[in-house]
Amino acid sequence: MSVKAAVMVKPGEPIEIWSLPDPEIHQGGVLLETVASEVCGTDVHLHKGKLAGVPYPIIPGHVSVGRIIESRGVKKDAIGRSLNKGDLVTFLDVHEVCGSCYHCLLKNQPNRCPSRKVYGITYGAEDGLFGGWAEQIYLQPGVHILKLPDGLSAEDVIGGGCGLFTGFAAVSRSEFKMGDTVVVQGCGPVGLSASAFANLRGAGKVILIGEPEARLALGKQLGADVVLDLASMSQGTLLEEVKSLTAGRGADVVIEASGNPLAVSQGLEMIRDGGTYVVAGHYTDAGDIQVNPHLDINKKHVVVKGQWGTEFQHLVGALAVLKKHRERLPFASVIGASYSLLTAGEALKDVEKLTVTKAIIEP
Ligand SMILES: [Zn+2]
Ligand SMILES: [Zn+2]
Repeated sequence: MSVKAAVMVKPGEPIEIWSLPDPEIHQGGVLLETVASEVCGTDVHLHKGKLAGVPYPIIPGHVSVGRIIESRGVKKDAIGRSLNKGDLVTFLDVHEVCGSCYHCLLKNQPNRCPSRKVYGITYGAEDGLFGGWAEQIYLQPGVHILKLPDGLSAEDVIGGGCGLFTGFAAVSRSEFKMGDTVVVQGCGPVGLSASAFANLRGAGKVILIGEPEARLALGKQLGADVVLDLASMSQGTLLEEVKSLTAGRGADVVIEASGNPLAVSQGLEMIRDGGTYVVAGHYTDAGDIQVNPHLDINKKHVVVKGQWGTEFQHLVGALAVLKKHRERLPFASVIGASYSLLTAGEALKDVEKLTVTKAIIEP
């Protein structure tokens, strides 16, 4: 027996299909049959070699939903719910954080732990089934597993994918108050999720900026009050529009979810004095911008926060809210197209060209 996987052999090269040996299940390990994984912007960046230290060839796919085929001694998920064969689960891609380094132990920031491993990113394909673009995924002992709440399908979750959790994390990190005006830059999966959760957290107004129009329409459906189309507005007009929607002051909070460095200088101009900026769209290196430290930061007295990846609390929180508001958050409808392992390369191209909002891989 062997397991098929779509492998990114190195940046710029076509995706290959490899047959990998069945994994050995260690005590505390769980084997999943992959139900759905995803293609996100980070995968496009990985295919362009934009993240340092990636051990190509890799099996991409950091956020996935799978069905338990086999488990050795794992009876409960990370929040204490019983786990059985056949259950649908997701899991935190980040694991093997040490708990004892400066970041883990003293600063409570495990996502900056230097020992952290990430499914779909930091493992070579020969290390094992550690990415979602494969028929099976092996969850090592210690991986935080989360059973999908009753009533949620794999599509509900993977339709938002990692963006669902990153958007939730960015909204949490902004710590905005009920009634605040929130601008979200970018209407890919992270921006759509941030708009939805900002709305549910009690924003007075959610202004979503992006393109194309079809994604903005999804944004409206998911909770944005106002959408501004980048394709038909100049930067000056966009800024004026945000100002006029905020009595000339600018937004209380701006969440950057675009991955475009230029958005950051524009975002800093859209914040009111003393407001908060969360940069969540730059997981990989997309380049530099110019910032005027006096005008954009110091004199404005703004708080600038980075949101690097997600933590387990964001998975739990996002799925709890998604379960409660499933009717209002139809993330399954964000799925633009489903691809097999054989067509994973096409999925990457379609995500890069923005022809699909969320591309999923169903091995
Ligand atoms: Zn650590
Ligand atoms: Zn991702």
